[in-house]
Amino acid sequence: MKAILVREFGGPEVLKLEEVPIPKPAAGEVLVRIHAAGVNPYDTYMRAGTYAQKPPLPYTPGSDAAGVIEGIGEGVEKVKEGDRVYTAQTLSGAYAEYALAREEQVHPLPAKTNFAQGAGLWVPYGTAYHALHHAAGAHASETVLVHGASGGVGTAAVQIARAMGLTVLGTAGTPKGLEIAKREGAHQVFDHRKAGYQAEILQATGNHGVDIILEMLANVNLSHDTKLIGNRGRVIVIGNRGEVTINPRELMARRASIHGFTLWGITPAEEAEIHAGLIAGLENGTLRPVVGKELPLAEATRAHNEVLEPGAIGKIVLVC
Ligand code: NAP
Repeated sequence: MKAILVREFGGPEVLKLEEVPIPKPAAGEVLVRIHAAGVNPYDTYMRAGTYAQKPPLPYTPGSDAAGVIEGIGEGVEKVKEGDRVYTAQTLSGAYAEYALAREEQVHPLPAKTNFAQGAGLWVPYGTAYHALHHAAGAHASETVLVHGASGGVGTAAVQIARAMGLTVLGTAGTPKGLEIAKREGAHQVFDHRKAGYQAEILQATGNHGVDIILEMLANVNLSHDTKLIGNRGRVIVIGNRGEVTINPRELMARRASIHGFTLWGITPAEEAEIHAGLIAGLENGTLRPVVGKELPLAEATRAHNEVLEPGAIGKIVLVC
């Protein structure tokens, strides 16, 4: 089979398409014929060797994929050959024609959801769901600012928050990104490249501030966020690429809080809830993963370059 291999940490050019044996599922494992693999920003940090988790080399990147069960190991009862599934992590890596996964790492892919969309589920939608439901404790009638609403996590968060009954404000940095955020459910959108856009956001809340901020670029925005958040508001730091200075007094006056967030810390019970919630949303049509770009597996290097560039439109996926 063809798979992307990383033999040394480094720039996007270390992603090489190679021919490797198709793995065999052991007891409790499944073999998935991958049709599409999602490209997440953290895949690039891991490839560069700068991420908290450093996989042993060589490795195949990717946690998010969608495809069809090709084989099952002894004792597997959850799925059978021919089932359509999406993955939430794999054992052997998602950027490949086949991947091994533990039985509990695969989940049914609803008929309405195509493979490219299924590849954009776990990290973006899991993050958005966990951030809103568990980290922020969001509830209907609150206002959320999705600070970075055009990318993978942002479009997912807009759809989920809208379905939960929140008022959704979203930002993006291009006209197309603003259009997508609006189309996916944001009540109002703001251009985060425009000088002074924060004042427009505050105005949109009647100067009360927002209840929740899902922050995709904290090093740029956190100081402003402390002034955009309302009384007892919660800033959830999902994305960050550097250091930032804030004035804690802004938080004190509002009794507001900043929460560090990671999807990796979830409990099995939270993960079970997330998948149940996501599958229900896909089935009832409130969740519709946005795939902005499909590239062949051989173009993984290009995908890693582009996923870090401005102008996000939902997900970039590799078609296998
Ligand atoms: P993505 O698809 O590449 O999207 C990036 C988003 O950030 C786009 O909406 C982009 O908007 C926006 N952005 C760019 N400049 C911004 C600014 N100045 N202010 C606000 N937003 C800005 O990435 P993603 O998959 O959505 O992930 C977003 C971030 O969260 C990444 O840093 C990722 O590593 C992180 N993340 C963390 C976790 C976790 O567990 N903590 C999980 C998933 C993702 P434009 O392109 O329109 O400018």
